[in-house]
Amino acid sequence: MKSLKEVIDPDNLLNPGVIINDDKRAHVRNLKELPRVEEEVDKCMECGFCEYKCPSRNITLTPRRRIVVRRELLKLSRDGNKKQYKELLDQYQYDGLDTCAVDGLCATACPVDINTGTLVKRLRRENHSEFANGVALSVAKNFGTVSAVVRAGVAAGNMVNRIFGSSALHKLTKGLKPVLPVPLWSNQMHASVGLSGSISRSRNTGHKTLAVYFPTCITRNMGASADGKPNTIDTFLHVAEKTGIGFVIPDDIQSACCGQLFSSKGFNKAFTLTANETIEKLWKWTEEGSFPVVLDITSCTFTLHHCRSVLTEQNKEKFDHLKILDSIDFILDYVLPRASIKSRKKEIVLHPVCSLQKMGLETKFIAIASQLADKVDVPLHAGCCGMAGDRGFWFPELTKSATQPEADEVRQKEYDGYYSSAKTCEMNMSDAVGRNYESIVYLLDECL
Ligand code: SF4
Ligand code: SF4
Repeated sequence: MKSLKEVIDPDNLLNPGVIINDDKRAHVRNLKELPRVEEEVDKCMECGFCEYKCPSRNITLTPRRRIVVRRELLKLSRDGNKKQYKELLDQYQYDGLDTCAVDGLCATACPVDINTGTLVKRLRRENHSEFANGVALSVAKNFGTVSAVVRAGVAAGNMVNRIFGSSALHKLTKGLKPVLPVPLWSNQMHASVGLSGSISRSRNTGHKTLAVYFPTCITRNMGASADGKPNTIDTFLHVAEKTGIGFVIPDDIQSACCGQLFSSKGFNKAFTLTANETIEKLWKWTEEGSFPVVLDITSCTFTLHHCRSVLTEQNKEKFDHLKILDSIDFILDYVLPRASIKSRKKEIVLHPVCSLQKMGLETKFIAIASQLADKVDVPLHAGCCGMAGDRGFWFPELTKSATQPEADEVRQKEYDGYYSSAKTCEMNMSDAVGRNYESIVYLLDECL
């Protein structure tokens, strides 16, 4: 082999030292240093397979780079390079932490299952002051009241837009953002009920109870349709009525939350309290697990599915007996077998949210859509929109960048409907594409 290489490459220009090498210790020289920094990501070999999945890849860092910077910080600290260390640490706040959607999609592409979002959540948790943790805990303890204030705020915002123009609040918050830490108002936000309205009364469809319906707080507070259709809750109840399904919405629903709001931001005490309270409520609502409970936002279902580690021993037992279903599961397994489909759409497009992908429900989502439309498109560039519950309100540049490839693809055609299964992601995609994305429950309602 050596002689052959000398004949064809006498100046040793091609891959010098690779495979054919005189140095017997070449295999242990010039290795990249991979110091142990954080247990969540120490296995990372910096291969980069995860990068294309990351919603922040085009504006700040990818998961691989988030890890590389942690390693670099360690090296700088070991070398006593305080100035550069501080500079890099400061930059990491925005590039590494603020713009990570903690959706964990990176783990789905990583050969060693690294979820960089888990590291980011812990770093956020460690950054929180006692005061911030106290505020989050107080929000969790008074969630019903806070939720009512948010709903009233959204309704008031809608009213301002009606008076001063449909984009008045969006323009105002956009103008204020560079100087004040305010969330960006989205024109897709529509309060489910009026300022004084309430949905806390118990409602059911008059049929034998088949499931408990848990309208999530986002649906309760901003689940109204941008197209002037009935809100998501009423639409789901309408579908239940048409298919003879008895749905119960519990009286004390207003104070219930899956806790994603707290877990994604690393507010552990608040998340622990919320998750435990919610499991206790679900236990009561479902008559100790006798009925499945159905949620209408997939990321909230995902959060509840993964809350077991923060539950008390007693609540862990309850959790193990509960059947917590996402609307996608429920529609395919319970609703469609009872439904008679009266019409179908011609061509629709789906946005499978990242929690749907992580839960392995994408096939079910497509299966539902395929029964209700002749042609179903899932964009090649469909991925995490970066919304992560509310991150897009605070860092709109993240969602704008994350949705661009998918939105560019979707805009190539005009569809008869645009569907997803998480309200905030629908709002985000609607902004990006310029067409109204809505819950697949609306498609179901129109076709039955
Ligand atoms: S959790 Fe999401 S945003 Fe964060 S690094 Fe992973 S893919 Fe990127
Ligand atoms: S895919 Fe996994 S191992 Fe490869 S760079 Fe990303 S986190 Fe590291």
